[in-house]
Amino acid sequence: MIFDLVISGGKLVTASTTYTSDIGINGETIAAIGEGLQGKEVIDARGKLVIPGAIDPHVHLEMPVGDTFSADDWASGTLAAACGGVTTVIDFVEPEPDEVLIAALQKRLESAKGKAVIDYGLHMTLRNDHPDTLNQIPAVVAEGCPSFKTYLTYEGFALSDKAFLNVLEAVGKARGMVLVHAENDAIVSYCTRQMIEKGKTSPGAHALARPAIAEMAAIQNSLAHAEVTGTPLYIVHISTAGGTSALEAAHLRGITAYGETCPQYLTLTEDKYDLPNFEGAKYVCSPPLRQKNDQETLWRGLAKGVLQTVGSDHCPFNFNGQKDKGRDSFVNIPPGLPGIEIRLALLFTFGVKKGHISINRWVDCCASSPARLFGLYPRKGHLIPGADADIVIFDPDKEIVVTKAVLHERVDYTPYEGIKLQGYPVMTILRGKSLVIENEYIGTAAHGQFLKRQVYQ
Ligand SMILES: [Zn+2]
Repeated sequence: MIFDLVISGGKLVTASTTYTSDIGINGETIAAIGEGLQGKEVIDARGKLVIPGAIDPHVHLEMPVGDTFSADDWASGTLAAACGGVTTVIDFVEPEPDEVLIAALQKRLESAKGKAVIDYGLHMTLRNDHPDTLNQIPAVVAEGCPSFKTYLTYEGFALSDKAFLNVLEAVGKARGMVLVHAENDAIVSYCTRQMIEKGKTSPGAHALARPAIAEMAAIQNSLAHAEVTGTPLYIVHISTAGGTSALEAAHLRGITAYGETCPQYLTLTEDKYDLPNFEGAKYVCSPPLRQKNDQETLWRGLAKGVLQTVGSDHCPFNFNGQKDKGRDSFVNIPPGLPGIEIRLALLFTFGVKKGHISINRWVDCCASSPARLFGLYPRKGHLIPGADADIVIFDPDKEIVVTKAVLHERVDYTPYEGIKLQGYPVMTILRGKSLVIENEYIGTAAHGQFLKRQVYQ
């Protein structure tokens, strides 16, 4: 048998194993894995790692925030993702307060159509527990969106305990999963007011306005509600040691709950907020950057399986023209960091090379677990015959110094400027087609497909 494409002699890394083999691809699918495969086209991957395309379960492309939008749209954001070895992203539908959920979903799909260069799914945000809203949940699940985002903070979004419980119950009945942004709204409001009353308005006050205890309290609270309803809960962007410990304790009680952290919490600390010339604004995200000990606990959590995934929470805003709207006060700085492109490489250097996580755990956190939890496995997130041929060839020896110029994200800075990486993706293949070679996008059309995801297993 002659395959359309063979990736030859690479070291295959999955969530559970590492071995040297060829991969045979026919059309858009992995057709065979074995030795000595013959192909019409052959890519020599000797000395390289061959991994499933990364899956970023948490991105915000062209997301409306106040009177502005996150700086990457579906085209630029997914192109940058592809360059970083990502073949699937899961973004969000953020309906207006009384908008019909399916109508909001259709609008969001329309905005991605013809622009996304990689595959994508969507989580649905729920802003209230009106019976009218909850009744629409099964229809949203049927459209392939079985995961629902909730917020415990932010005006217009924060759910009360009662509302959160009602949402958990309704989503659980529809066999979906609830995602939660866990920061205690009362604590955040109180601490923010304290900062303003004391005249503390610089980016440094952002971290003090959203203390670690606000996250830990909200995580514990959301886990209590998940325990009562039995609905699977996915806690997004966990940033603290306390939040991680709360999740671990919940696992010991047998609660079905999952934890995500982000590259910024694993590699950056809150001292960035003290940079001169308002540069601290570049690091303003919610929850904020934390301390060294939080970082160590997050790495241990990933290694032990307390935390399952690393999502980028990519939500970029330009320093000039967007972040600088908050020069008068940190409360006006749009919160969010870019990270869609660098997540995989950052986790390799700071996770695998530094010995925090194994190479298999790296693949698991960046690809397999997101696929499994969000109803895409094993079509995505695995190297196995029958799966989509979403494959990244990763050079573990390639050295790169990160600058804005290296990256393709459409934003005027990177929080990782000057960081040295060892290991970088050198080829990204989406469903059998090469999209990126040596950090250059070579795709010709926006072939990204909307992925209808399966209900929680
Ligand atoms: Zn987010």
